[in-house]
Amino acid sequence: MTAPPRLELRHVSRRFGGVNVVDDVSLTIAPGQVTCLLGPSGCGKSTTLRIVAGVDRQDSGEVRVDGLLLSDDTRHVPPEERGIGLMFQDFALFPHLSVAENVAFGLRGTRARNAARVAELLERVNLPDFGSKYPHQLSGGEQQRVALARALAPRPRIMLMDEPFSGLDERLRDEIRDATLDLLKEAGTAVLLVTHEPDEAMRMADEIALMRHGRIVQQGAPYNIYNNPVDRAAAGFFSDIN
Ligand code: ADP
Ligand code: MG
Repeated sequence: MTAPPRLELRHVSRRFGGVNVVDDVSLTIAPGQVTCLLGPSGCGKSTTLRIVAGVDRQDSGEVRVDGLLLSDDTRHVPPEERGIGLMFQDFALFPHLSVAENVAFGLRGTRARNAARVAELLERVNLPDFGSKYPHQLSGGEQQRVALARALAPRPRIMLMDEPFSGLDERLRDEIRDATLDLLKEAGTAVLLVTHEPDEAMRMADEIALMRHGRIVQQGAPYNIYNNPVDRAAAGFFSDIN
């Protein structure tokens, strides 16, 4: 028997004001796999992510982790019990806490174990001497790396990322994308990455789920989708990649 997927969405739907904002979305993600939910603004990507995180609830369908039911229309495991890490564009560091305190924020261990974990992560994101600095003393790219360290610190089985790189200038973005991917792959984390940028999905995804009006219209390996778009709209969406 094969192991269940790390993350599974089964027929998840969410309505706002009579509109199916998320419409019968199903997908699975294996440990160490990066799946990009790609689509234009307003197609329902963030709502899908919020349902997985547990900060919003679906009207129907199921979310499972390692085969265990996290939520359906009656059951709802609270966000803090889901073992899920979050990285959002506007998910800022706590300004009144030092870098080390930010990274340690979600840790439940002893003081000594937490300190060791924080040091290990700051090393891994290439900020070994930044522990006692404060967020306002850091560049945007450095803050992003601290946010990544904070999200990874409790060893989440799943990482949800909502346009996490869109606040960064282009020069930094590639470098931070690569560093982020390295760390997530090394940890074997299953990643659901939301983006409206096809080139970001092409660069980062093992699998792309193309979303439109709440539905996944095509799903597969990046180059399969790029080379065989399901329709004109999908082709057009990819056409400005250079
Ligand atoms: P995306 O992340 O792809 O840009 P969203 O998931 O944020 O899209 O939003 C999808 C649609 O759902 C949008 O039309 C948005 O206005 C609507 N929407 C999202 N959240 C709510 C809400 N809490 N109440 C009403 N409408 C919402
Ligand atoms: Mg969004």
